[in-house]
Amino acid sequence: MSICYVNGKYLLKKDSNVSIEDRGLNFSDSVYEVIAFRKQNLLNYVKHINRLKRSLNELKINSPFSNFKSLEIIIKNLIKFNALNNGFIYLQITRGTSIRNHLFPKFSKPNVIVILYNSKDTDHFKKGVKVITIDDMRWQRCDIKTTSLLANVLGKQTAEEKGAYESIQINKQNYITEGTTSNIFFVHSDNLIQTHPSNNNILGGVTRDIVIELAKRKKFKVLEKPLNIRSLKTIKEAFLTSTTVGVVPVIKIDNLKISECKPGLVSKQLMILFKSNSKKQIKNNL
Ligand code: PMP
Repeated sequence: MSICYVNGKYLLKKDSNVSIEDRGLNFSDSVYEVIAFRKQNLLNYVKHINRLKRSLNELKINSPFSNFKSLEIIIKNLIKFNALNNGFIYLQITRGTSIRNHLFPKFSKPNVIVILYNSKDTDHFKKGVKVITIDDMRWQRCDIKTTSLLANVLGKQTAEEKGAYESIQINKQNYITEGTTSNIFFVHSDNLIQTHPSNNNILGGVTRDIVIELAKRKKFKVLEKPLNIRSLKTIKEAFLTSTTVGVVPVIKIDNLKISECKPGLVSKQLMILFKSNSKKQIKNNL
């Protein structure tokens, strides 16, 4: 969308900029969040803000907001100024601008960027997607939502080049961690749902947490334990979760067909539950 927010100003995207000495640009020394809004309602806002506060804290970046209420006002203003009903907020906070030096500057004022994006049509994902497996080449703090995403970028590009939607990453011990832009869940033949635990090896997805809550409410058993790649052959269903696409069934992993290349029943059920959970939030805010 055309109006964005940069360091206290609402500007046309084409007129907005940050310094070439911004530490986000020089070192990926920055954090971000992506938040969905529907009918101008922010979805799962508190969970996103809590993760943002944690990311800032883990990287010792000064919070630019003494009170995160002001951020909510900025976001709501942007939604109004852009006259957009549905879309995504991209929010980035860098450590600030300073002469290039690995050491943190003594005094630095974070740079804050907020941009809105239109939602894309994700209806076709209902039919399920293909994914490929790749080595997990990332660092050991994947729990922090930093803009240091080069391994994720390369992984996503490899998926695209191989005709797949996503790459799922396998660590050195042969365990599946997560996608490059999503978390992954597996459903076993007894309907046990398994996903990687929320630790330093994955980004603890907001969608992941909500899907776990919804599944437990429906009396599914959820096991938060890494799945070994050897066990893939035995799984009944798989699905991905993320803010931008919600719950997406996986129907093929490399050459392995999952649930006969059709979205599995549990995946479909959780996809519907997740959508109605979002709708409920909208209703409650109206
Ligand atoms: N893992 C990674 C690596 C991601 O980039 C994302 C999307 N930000 C997710 C998981 C899903 O997180 P969320 O549900 O909060 O969008």
